[in-house]
Amino acid sequence: MKTLAKKNIIEAMTIWTQKYDVLCPTQTAPGDCIFDTFREKTFTLDYKKPLSPKAMFFPHSEITFKVENNKYREVVSSKKTLLFGIRACDMMGILQATSFMSRDQKDVYYSAKRNMAMTIVMACPGPQNETCFCTTTHSGPFARKGFDLQFYDIGDTFLIEIGTPGGEALLSAIPLTDIDDTHAEQQIAKFQKKALRHLPEVKSVVKAMKKLKDDKADEKIWDSFGQKCITCGGCAFVCPTCTCFNVYDHQFSPGNGLRARTWDACLYGGFAKEASGHNPRASQALRLKRRHEHKLLHFNETDVQGSLCGCVGCGRCSDYCPVHIGTLEVVKTIAES
Ligand code: SF4
Ligand code: SF4
Repeated sequence: MKTLAKKNIIEAMTIWTQKYDVLCPTQTAPGDCIFDTFREKTFTLDYKKPLSPKAMFFPHSEITFKVENNKYREVVSSKKTLLFGIRACDMMGILQATSFMSRDQKDVYYSAKRNMAMTIVMACPGPQNETCFCTTTHSGPFARKGFDLQFYDIGDTFLIEIGTPGGEALLSAIPLTDIDDTHAEQQIAKFQKKALRHLPEVKSVVKAMKKLKDDKADEKIWDSFGQKCITCGGCAFVCPTCTCFNVYDHQFSPGNGLRARTWDACLYGGFAKEASGHNPRASQALRLKRRHEHKLLHFNETDVQGSLCGCVGCGRCSDYCPVHIGTLEVVKTIAES
C-alpha cells in the first residue's frame, strides 16, 4: 500500500492538473468552502462538508442544444475532471444520481461529464457537524465502493486505498512512500472503527421509514411543515441525490435559439401541475410529503446502490433549510408522532 505525506499534497495536485481539471475544497473570501478549480492559494485541507459536488456533472443550468441559422447542434460538454476530497456521502450521491441518470434512458449530458471524471474520497474520521447521519443510511463515514482512490488522514500522512485501475494510474506520477500492507490495513480498520463509533446510528431514520411503510405516520405533520416552508427549493438544490430539472426553449430570432435545462424542485407549486390545470400536489404539505416519501419510501432499489434509501444522510438539507425542515428534523418528527 502507499502513503502520501501531507507536505507533498500541493505537488501531487499540481501534477494532476497537467491532465485534469482538478476540483477540490476551496476556501472562498466570505468564509465558505466549495469544490472549485485547484489553486494553491485557496485550496484547503481544513474543511468540513462543502456543498455537494453534484453540479460538476449536473450544472445548475446548461444548454443541451443550439439552433444556428436553422442548423441543429447538440451541446455535450465533457472534460477530464478530478474531484479531490469529496466525502463518502457525496460519493454515494454520485452513485445514486448516476444510476438514475442512466437507468431507463442514458442522459448523455450527465454521462459525458461523469465518464470523464475521477473521484478521490476523503474518509471522515467522524461527523463533520451535528447533522451528519451517513452511518444510518449506509453511505459513510468512509466509502465502500465507487471511488477511484480513498484517502485516510492519519496525521501528517494520507493512507491511500485504491478503488480502480484508473485510481492506481493517478498515483504513478506523484511522490509516494510504500507501507507494509498488513500494517496499512490495520491502520485503516482502526480509522474506520473509530469513525463509526463517533457517528452512531440515528434510530429515528429507520423508525420513520417503517412508519411510512406501514402507513402509520401522522398526516398532520405535513400540514405543520407545510405552513412553515417558504418554498425556496434549497433542500433540493443542496441534496446530492436530487436530480429534477426543467427544460425550456429560447428563440432569439427565426432559425436561431437554444434549449436549456435548469434545476427544478418538487417543492415548487408548478412542479407536478398537469397540462389540464390539475395539480396532484396542490399544497405545500403534499409537496413536502412527496419529497420525503421519495427519499424514504418510494425510492428505486437500483438507484440506492447499497445505501439504505434515497437519502445519503449528508444532512445538508438540515444545514441549509431556513425554517428547519431538513430530513433529519422530518424523520425525528415522524418517529415521535
Ligand atoms: S435528503 Fe437531505 S440529508 Fe438526505 S441526501 Fe438529500 S440533502 Fe442529504
Ligand atoms: S429548504 Fe426548507 S423552506 Fe426551502 S423549500 Fe426546502 S423545506 Fe421549504
